[in-house]
Amino acid sequence: MLKVKLAAASIALALGLAACVSTDDNDTTASTDLTSGLMLEDFDTSVRPQDDLFMFVNGSWYENTEIPSDRSRFGSFDMLARQNETRLRSIIEDAADKSAAEGTNEQKIGDFYNSFMDEERIEALGLSPIQPMLAQIGGINSHEELTTTMASMRRDGLGGPLAFYVSTDAKNPEVYALHLVQSGLGLPDRDYYFRDNAEFENIRTKYVEYLEAMFAELGHENAADAAQRVYDLELSLAEHHWTRLEIRDAEARYNKMSIDEVRALTGDINYDAMAEAAGVTAADYVIVNTPSYIETLGEMYTDVDLATWKDYLQVRLLSSFASRLHSTVADLQFDFYSTTLNGTPEQQERWKRGVQATNGALGEVLGQEYVARHFPPEAKERMGELIDNLLVAMEQSINELEWMTPDTKVEALEKLANFTPKIGYPDEWRDFSDLEIMPGDLIGNTIRAANFEYDENIADIGQPVDRSRWGMNPQRVNAYYSPTANEIVFPAGILQPPFFDMNADDAVNYGGIGAVIGHEIGHGFDDQGSRYDGQGNLRNWWSDQDREQFEALTGMLVEQYSAFEPLPGMHIDGRISLGENIGDHVGLLSAYRAYQMSLDGEASPVMDGFTGEQRFFLSWAQIWKGKYREDAMRAQLARGPHSPAQYRALGAPRNIPAFYEAFNVQEGDGMYLAPEDRVIIW
Ligand SMILES: [Zn+2]
Repeated sequence: MLKVKLAAASIALALGLAACVSTDDNDTTASTDLTSGLMLEDFDTSVRPQDDLFMFVNGSWYENTEIPSDRSRFGSFDMLARQNETRLRSIIEDAADKSAAEGTNEQKIGDFYNSFMDEERIEALGLSPIQPMLAQIGGINSHEELTTTMASMRRDGLGGPLAFYVSTDAKNPEVYALHLVQSGLGLPDRDYYFRDNAEFENIRTKYVEYLEAMFAELGHENAADAAQRVYDLELSLAEHHWTRLEIRDAEARYNKMSIDEVRALTGDINYDAMAEAAGVTAADYVIVNTPSYIETLGEMYTDVDLATWKDYLQVRLLSSFASRLHSTVADLQFDFYSTTLNGTPEQQERWKRGVQATNGALGEVLGQEYVARHFPPEAKERMGELIDNLLVAMEQSINELEWMTPDTKVEALEKLANFTPKIGYPDEWRDFSDLEIMPGDLIGNTIRAANFEYDENIADIGQPVDRSRWGMNPQRVNAYYSPTANEIVFPAGILQPPFFDMNADDAVNYGGIGAVIGHEIGHGFDDQGSRYDGQGNLRNWWSDQDREQFEALTGMLVEQYSAFEPLPGMHIDGRISLGENIGDHVGLLSAYRAYQMSLDGEASPVMDGFTGEQRFFLSWAQIWKGKYREDAMRAQLARGPHSPAQYRALGAPRNIPAFYEAFNVQEGDGMYLAPEDRVIIW
């Protein structure tokens, strides 16, 4: 602890010597009882913020923190997620205690959780809860029957080579439409099948071993052969899968087709039989996301023998449900998906997994109680003010843009004026009365929860869009932007320190949650979000000239991030992460502008030896506190789209003039970019 105090004291000194604090005005010292919100004990003052803002703010923490054995990474988000586990546990246990009446939310929460926690029963049941589904797959006699079985089992949560889902029609955002998309790989992404290096080679070898072990559990007579055949099938699907980069393209993935056109596209897969079994015949058109893949699948569908398809489905079924079955298969699944892919050494304690499973099935029910217990109404009010200020700052930024022509600016401002913010939790809670949860039936509960979600989703086909809905539970430590709704959403879960601190001075809130708000607004103006207008319509509102200018600027950001090499030979993919990096960039810039507006011409107060401008950037680095196991870093780089936390802390500030001013960053410093290499996009 002594070390902590010394560190805190020496920071002020170090910065004072760096002569970047305008401390000569004594009257700027904060007179309120707000804290700075900075976690000084985590700082490493042997590092200069001008060289490495991330390590200056998080260095001691980074050195002294061991990633918990049940996690693949650890940081700000994970700490809040961990705190949430405890909070949700007590909500669940209170519900379970009540011996609540049949059909109430409390009964459902309690019975779901207890069905997960009853290990003895789960061990005794073995594979029997999924036996009827395995038998149904085993009994398939034709490719036609395969089509209908796959389509109907999707409702139970079983993935196959393609998937239907219902969501807003991007070119008619008042209506929900049926979509068809590629699916069906056991590895996280198509590139996992093709990346040419030893680590990914090892992952592929381990994956085939995993499949073989799972086939052995299923009692397959030739497990090794089945594993190889299923792998080869997935490999041929993966070959035709669109890459992450291709699928990011909002225009390319929007392919509206008549039912006749989809019938032709799906080739040997009988579309009508599939749609009937999937319950989606109400659709009079389909938006196909990955048409070339669907077409190839239709061509190869009957060339793959039935036995291989059946093996594929059975092993997928076992793998999907493994975490809720007896420990032999649950452990196999953990070993591959958590240890091999992400480096996590140990399984989480069972209660944590039980909380997550319950949260997955009944998230909004838990959220309702979570909000009542942990989200103060004042937080909603202060967030509302912050969001208003960020929107005003963004408006100023757009007005002052030099590269954009006036006509396009009008459109951009029109879009900005139509942003809808949502804070904390939904105004109306979802009704779970049609979901039946029974004691002692974990697999049944899991399937009924999947059915409930699926049925609600497909019932939306052709219906008007309900803009009161939320896409995240209130307890989630995250935020999002929806391009088709043009809304920014901040669940209660992220409205806590270090992101948002009711007891802290403004600077740290603007650098934290303010930048997060700006990030989500920024998504509306990133390389993809900017293709949608204020009504959520995927419509080009840009002049060609402006778009070209925009792409030249974002191209510089692609280059900057692609230069980061977190693992030897493995760089950040600046193209996949572009939208997120633009979000960070816009977010930090507009939050800074909003912070300056809030000062109203006054000098910022000095706290803990830092000016407000400095604390703003320190707060930004503080929210990206985080470290990864090597495998988890590899997975993060392979899957994107977010740049690893450390690089988010570093990537945005170096483009912002105010960062250079706040810390007097000079040529030769680690964070320095030459003026011609800095980008201001918005
Ligand atoms: Zn984002």
